[in-house]
Amino acid sequence: MASKTPIIGVTGGIASGKSTVARAFARLGIPWVDADDTAREVVEPGEPALAEIAARYGQRVLQADGRLDRRALREIVFAAPEERRWLESVTHPRIRERLVERLAAFRRGEAPYALLVSPLLFESGQAALVDRRLVIDVPESVQIARTARRDDVDEAQARAIVAAQMPREERLQRADDVIDNAGDEAGLAEQVAALDRRYRALAGLPGSR
Ligand code: ADP
Repeated sequence: MASKTPIIGVTGGIASGKSTVARAFARLGIPWVDADDTAREVVEPGEPALAEIAARYGQRVLQADGRLDRRALREIVFAAPEERRWLESVTHPRIRERLVERLAAFRRGEAPYALLVSPLLFESGQAALVDRRLVIDVPESVQIARTARRDDVDEAQARAIVAAQMPREERLQRADDVIDNAGDEAGLAEQVAALDRRYRALAGLPGSR
């Protein structure tokens, strides 16, 4: 049966464990693309999006070496919704175009399935690019504690970031599959292995173990 490689969208709130999960699948030989990495790529020096941003805001959004000064740009768009919308109109179509290319390459490739890891899978419309949606779920208290530890922010800051994101229940309602990442990393690896067997079966290929 020659079916094309299924794409699994992986999402979850901040510090839910998306990167950790992606690495666990990668150890099983599964390729992935991260929408955050792609978002950074489209504003690298030489990219048309960076030229458009520099033309609108000038040198103040560039570092001495010509790279985007993200902090300066964030400050400009933070309190100005119309600037944020303009910025998104410049970057989002390019991010999407690049993701579509990467996913098409996965679909042509040899992998049994592949991952699109995206914090904004549902919010950005990227869910339409994938065949299944896998939500990494943790209680908010765990999210807050892991964010505070990883990003060296205090609990109030971590709580505010979590509160600004899509509510846990809404994300879960849109999930085809869920990983419960409230436990330890061994428990996480077991859940990834179980999903790996199911996803390989989806692709019409026998499990490898
Ligand atoms: P995301 O990519 O969703 O923001 P990460 O994969 O970076 O989340 O995980 C957030 C933090 O929590 C990291 O420091 C990671 O090492 C830690 N972490 C992830 N899963 C677990 C787990 N099951 N047990 C303990 N710590 C975890």
